[in-house]
Amino acid sequence: MSQDTFAIKSDPALWEKLDMDVERFSNIPPMLTGAYQGVFLEQKNRPRAMSYFDGMIENIFSGRIQEMAGAKEEGRPVVGTFCVYVPEEIVQAVNGVCVGLCGGSPGSIPDAEKVLPRNICPMVKSAFGFKVGRICPYFQVVDFVYGETTCDAKKKTWELLNEYVPTHVMEIPQMKRERDKRLWVDEVKDFKTEIEKISSKKVTYENLQDAIRLLNDKRRAMQRLNDLRHHTPSPISGKDMLLIQQIAFYDAPQRFTEKVHALCDELEERIAQGDAVAPASTPRIMVSGTPMALPNWKLHNIIETSGAVVVNEESCIGTRYYKDTIDENAQTVDEQLERLTERYMQIDCSCFTPNEERIGQVLKEYKASGAQGLIDYCLQFCHTYNIEAVKLRQMCEKEGIPFLAIESDYSQEDIGQLQTRVEAFIEQIQG
Ligand code: SF4
Ligand code: SF4
Repeated sequence: MSQDTFAIKSDPALWEKLDMDVERFSNIPPMLTGAYQGVFLEQKNRPRAMSYFDGMIENIFSGRIQEMAGAKEEGRPVVGTFCVYVPEEIVQAVNGVCVGLCGGSPGSIPDAEKVLPRNICPMVKSAFGFKVGRICPYFQVVDFVYGETTCDAKKKTWELLNEYVPTHVMEIPQMKRERDKRLWVDEVKDFKTEIEKISSKKVTYENLQDAIRLLNDKRRAMQRLNDLRHHTPSPISGKDMLLIQQIAFYDAPQRFTEKVHALCDELEERIAQGDAVAPASTPRIMVSGTPMALPNWKLHNIIETSGAVVVNEESCIGTRYYKDTIDENAQTVDEQLERLTERYMQIDCSCFTPNEERIGQVLKEYKASGAQGLIDYCLQFCHTYNIEAVKLRQMCEKEGIPFLAIESDYSQEDIGQLQTRVEAFIEQIQG
């Protein structure tokens, strides 16, 4: 897609119908168009198949919202979520639509700070502010949202969010013992009952099996893509990979899976032809830590404009979302829910204690990606990831892995300082 023709589309009539603040929101598509052109379209030698994902961004506030509004008119539930622990298979089983609502923009934070305290994680504030300011069409199109009890900032925000949009909460235990698993399975069953009640549709063995297969296929496609991007030299940039992983949270699963496979086919050709986005000598960096929700491209842009390439994201908008699949061999709905819970229990978010498996997982991904240094990214005021960075640092010291811990928010103020630190880190890798 060329820089001159790319433009994020507006749809004021649709936004009006969704009770948005249309006047204010009308400024967002041109602003995001400019940012997207600078961050993504200026890259050289992108895979041709990225044009689909560029198109998803062009339609982010129009075409995809129309699809979701159309699903609602057909009586299908549209459910907003904030965490990869909420089992989307169950929403899919009743033919519902699941959309990730985590906020990655600083624009809505002043709205949130009219209500919430300032010193909490920017992701929570950004998402909450979108609803308060009526400046996110996804928040406006959902029938209800499903929060969880992962971190303190989120679980207390749901109580306030419920004043603006029906907010259900799923309890996620903070340990992974047998008794926690039993609680978790019960929570998944309650979630199923709630979704059945809201949608007036039953979750059956057949529709749940179809949903499990559909989402397993999506996760397998993402695994294939991530394996291919690990090749040296990199056939795709880290920025484009991050973008695809962000789009995974709002695109229709089947279409998304097909497009990811089409991209994988092209990457295989590129690898065979030695066609890469950067020379083999380019320093390779893996990023771990807190998720980067759309349009948070800050760290990747700094790394890749400083002469390195990002080769892996150990994050919920990254491998944590797709590294595990659900066992498809269950014979009853109860067994399916057990297998589903087992898969979700493998997600290694820092809100769990102990969480040793994450440290091993980071090392495994580091080795598989051919990275030469690890940057751990933590959103400001995210205590669990921030404290867990201590263990990552210890592991890196033991393994001789260059390590840099970064704490940041969504503002532009620290870009110069981050750039300096990232450049020094790249020099350290290069020796
Ligand atoms: S980082 Fe933890 S709380 Fe956040 S989306 Fe991932 S699993 Fe959920
Ligand atoms: S980044 Fe940390 S503080 Fe923010 S929502 Fe996720 S777990 Fe909570």
